[in-house]
Amino acid sequence: MDKIVINARVATETDVFEADIGIRDGKIAAYSHHMPLDGAETIDAKGGLVVPGVIDAHTHMDFPFMGTTSADDFGSGTVAAACGGTTAIIDFILPKQSQSLLEALHDYRSRADPLVAVDYGLHMIFKQENLTELESVPQLVKEGIPSFKLFMTYRREGLMLDDKSLFKVMKKVGQTHGLVAIHAENNGIIENLVETNLEAGNFSAKYHALSKPSLAEAEAVGRAAHLAHAAGVRSYIVHLSSAYGAEAIEYAQSRGYDIFAETCPHYLVLTDEVYERPDGRNFVMSPPLRSKRDCASLWDGISSGSIQTIGSDHCPFNSQQKDYGKGDFTKIPNGVPGTETILPLMFSEGVRKNRITIFDMVRVTSSNPARRFGLYPRKGCLIIGSDADLAIIDTSKRVRLTADKLHTNIDYSVYDHITTEGYPVLVMSRGRTVMENGEFVGKKGAGEFLPRELEEDITLR
Ligand SMILES: [Zn+2]
Repeated sequence: MDKIVINARVATETDVFEADIGIRDGKIAAYSHHMPLDGAETIDAKGGLVVPGVIDAHTHMDFPFMGTTSADDFGSGTVAAACGGTTAIIDFILPKQSQSLLEALHDYRSRADPLVAVDYGLHMIFKQENLTELESVPQLVKEGIPSFKLFMTYRREGLMLDDKSLFKVMKKVGQTHGLVAIHAENNGIIENLVETNLEAGNFSAKYHALSKPSLAEAEAVGRAAHLAHAAGVRSYIVHLSSAYGAEAIEYAQSRGYDIFAETCPHYLVLTDEVYERPDGRNFVMSPPLRSKRDCASLWDGISSGSIQTIGSDHCPFNSQQKDYGKGDFTKIPNGVPGTETILPLMFSEGVRKNRITIFDMVRVTSSNPARRFGLYPRKGCLIIGSDADLAIIDTSKRVRLTADKLHTNIDYSVYDHITTEGYPVLVMSRGRTVMENGEFVGKKGAGEFLPRELEEDITLR
């Protein structure tokens, strides 16, 4: 063994057990009680909970959006990820204007490879002007990009596809056994409400939320589900935010559609009351935050299995960037940080507060994303032969989530009113320690690109 984690309580999707964990060549090599040390480096978990590292399938590093670029590049963003127990991310390639999809892939690889501190994969965003490139889909799948993101809104930004275009791309992706990821909000409702609010002189941050009601989400989720089913492609609804949206997912799943939903920690722990605060603009993301009732129904969706994955939609902007929208909510760059706080929030607000079980947490933060995005069992579990991507959680460590504790490249925290009970104290990426006691101790550039291949049949728990 190269390393042995002693005094560990290992949590999986189905079990918690005490064991020493042997690691060799970056992989889980053995479990036993009182493993002979034989000169291996020992790491004392001190009875802490060892979980498989989080797989955050929804990040936007170095992302050009709304006239600016998200504040984390692949370096600072994956350092933040590592420090919170996220050991793999899947980011979204946004092709630049008149860049082909394949050029965009190589552009992203060349920016990410030298900087990433943890392993990463990529999804491809299919925007309007790339509709002529459907023939590249099989090539992208071959290069390890089997998932394609489609937008049902953001028409002015050139991202939105109409129903016919959505259907066309879905069919093509379905033929390659790929996956479509969908940003589901009804563009017509949103454009109209934005116009009405601006005409009425309603410019503050809360009108962002009022212009994107949860029925706009529910309508689009339902439409996306039917379109994808008709096109014969599996679909993934990103960042589900509302109870109405969750009902639409449950309906599609009850009909046997191959559809799954992700929600984000901010929809679980924050509510729309924050838009009344002076710093309300910092909470502007799409879809917006909702009510307490919506939060409760999303937690229930995790427990019942209708919501299968957690992603962060990590897309931070600093205060000065958020200020672009001081006098007009439509100019506030949309997005919040999140990849670093998935594990602390899901453990403290979810498991500790009995909203979900530890098994639910491992399933939605790691095992299900690994299965759904073609990384299982290399990642998403800690069985013999899996990558030694893990986090040791000190279950009683209290950390207030202020900006100075977090590693994302912005000057505020959207969670600074929350003190978590339980926090990762050591994180490993392929057997290398990347975080210890709040400090990043890994290396930028040590992460690897993860070419992904989807299984034909995926059974989710
Ligand atoms: Zn996103």
